[in-house]
Amino acid sequence: MTTPHKIVLRKELENCKRLVIKVGSNVVTKANGRCDVRKMRIIVEDICDLIDEGFEIILVSSGAVSVGKAFLKRMLPREGRVDLQQSASAIGQPKLINKYSQLFEDHHHICSQILLTHDDFRKRKRFLHAKQTIEVLLKNHVTPILNENDSISYSENTVGDNDHLAASAAQMVNADALIIITSAQGLYDKNPIEKDAKLIKNVDFGEELDHIDMSATTNVGRGGMESKIHAVNKVTPLGIRAIISSKDNNRIVLDPLTKEIGTMFGHESNFEPEQKKAWLISTKKLNCRLEIDEGAFQALMAGNSLFPRGVVESHGEYFQGDCIDICYQGKPFAVGISEYDGADVERIKDKHSDEIEEVLGYKISSAVILYQNLVLLEETINE
Ligand code: GLU
Repeated sequence: MTTPHKIVLRKELENCKRLVIKVGSNVVTKANGRCDVRKMRIIVEDICDLIDEGFEIILVSSGAVSVGKAFLKRMLPREGRVDLQQSASAIGQPKLINKYSQLFEDHHHICSQILLTHDDFRKRKRFLHAKQTIEVLLKNHVTPILNENDSISYSENTVGDNDHLAASAAQMVNADALIIITSAQGLYDKNPIEKDAKLIKNVDFGEELDHIDMSATTNVGRGGMESKIHAVNKVTPLGIRAIISSKDNNRIVLDPLTKEIGTMFGHESNFEPEQKKAWLISTKKLNCRLEIDEGAFQALMAGNSLFPRGVVESHGEYFQGDCIDICYQGKPFAVGISEYDGADVERIKDKHSDEIEEVLGYKISSAVILYQNLVLLEETINE
């Protein structure tokens, strides 16, 4: 692998080599929903330049749903059309990837497509397979283009939006940095429609952002600024840098890497990669948590599993195999993989493990969370 020389990264990205670039639907499609080929060409050119200089790039691209819907609107009259909303991505994805493929080939490079669901991140075997495939592609200078497999995603196995898919992918491949390209210049100190809103250029690791109004969203794609910050917060504790930057820069990908534009997020610099733990934390399902009693808290702190007896409350819609928060006195102190669906945890909470079968009619495990699948959060350990 050649050492990068022509492209000089901004100082915060020094020594970064493996980059995950996420482009939203509003970046690669026009207002009418069709591919914005001009923008896509710039993105591909930038990626090819980076690859030629020895960087490794994973592209996470949205746009399938948008392209699919636009195509349907033109080609299939509404009259007599069976509802195809769910399938729009199945129609748009090949169109999107075809366009990318053409553009990469124009630059004598190759791209590839990997469609993922939440299961591919939370099931260790699938996770390792996907990771292995991406590693092999990167070794061969082929750019993996990732998207959610929307046509087979449903509420329990959806990643949610591509900001989270990109964050999980960045962790999966141990990326050095995650770059999220969107319609905003970056993160503003207040809602950007307000006149005196200022762009925040740097956010230090651990800096509180709760006071900022992030409710503004783009009208295409799923995730607004809040979801982007959430995605960023998933990767920076793992030592991965992150930038949020605008689609309107001249060099859409290269500019935020080489100039001081967008919002740069500091990372945990002392992070010691401990693969399984990082994997667990990054796959955590949003807004799902268990409240446990004091006895269970003590037991978990001593390295034991969580049994139904110690569960006081279960919140959120989660399923067997999902990673969720574990709270004591309302404060999350650990994460772990649930052995049961949330609805079933609700039914067995406060019961003895011997009663599980009687209550549910089946029993997978005596524990709600096994100690092997449980990680105490850093703050808890340091307290
Ligand atoms: N996977 C969706 C698509 O390709 C986009 C999801 C998102 O907007 O984050 O259209």
